Amino acid sequence: MNAIENLNEIRSRIAEAEHAAGRPAGSVKLIVVTKTFEASAIEPLLAIGERVFGENRVGEASEKWPALMGQYDGIELHLIGPLQSNKVRDALGLFDVVHSLDRVSLAKELAKQLERDDRSGFPRLRVQVNTGEEPQKGGIAPDAVDAFLQDCGSKFGLDVEGLMCIPPFEDAPAPHFALLRKIAERNRLQQLSMGMSADFETAIKFGATEVRIGSAILGGR
Ligand SMILES: *Cc1c(COP(=O)(O)O)cnc(C)c1O
Repeated sequence: MNAIENLNEIRSRIAEAEHAAGRPAGSVKLIVVTKTFEASAIEPLLAIGERVFGENRVGEASEKWPALMGQYDGIELHLIGPLQSNKVRDALGLFDVVHSLDRVSLAKELAKQLERDDRSGFPRLRVQVNTGEEPQKGGIAPDAVDAFLQDCGSKFGLDVEGLMCIPPFEDAPAPHFALLRKIAERNRLQQLSMGMSADFETAIKFGATEVRIGSAILGGR
């Protein structure tokens, strides 16, 4: 199977999962995760009109995407990996959406940049929640998210649209997706970034609005 066939297959599975969950067709956005893949592997997808992509490193994305953006209009790029404070400026120039707002110091840095620049072109934001409370993983602890969101708005002037999580590898993902949805609902957030190659159908059942899928489309890394 090549990437285009895989993409078509994933799109139909997303449609089926939307239908099974009683959700409107097209309510889930597919983010094709292209980390570690070179431009030559991504181009066939661009050529057939795919426009929404995710990368997990600012440096790698800066090397790959500006040239592709020069060739293809309307690319929407999502940062799904950790953002170091010293990379914020680079990230703001490149990404349309940042899924990894995961600490106070980053919120502060983003606010600083927002003061400097104007709001147009500032990325849309999701707060990463460490639903499994794993020490090695980024994200706000579930019981601290409400206060963090409060601060993002009132202290830092950041407009957060949603939440993101990566369930622990060894856990069943459903309880993590359910928890993320519950936190989003009580904070009236619209966007739920959850679900990867192995678990996106479950995520859609639990209300995902964005799924991040890499290996099921582009192959193993
Ligand atoms: C790599 C990655 C994905 C995609 O994972 P696959 O299993 O290849 O679909 C999704 N989200 C994040 C945060 C990632 O780093």
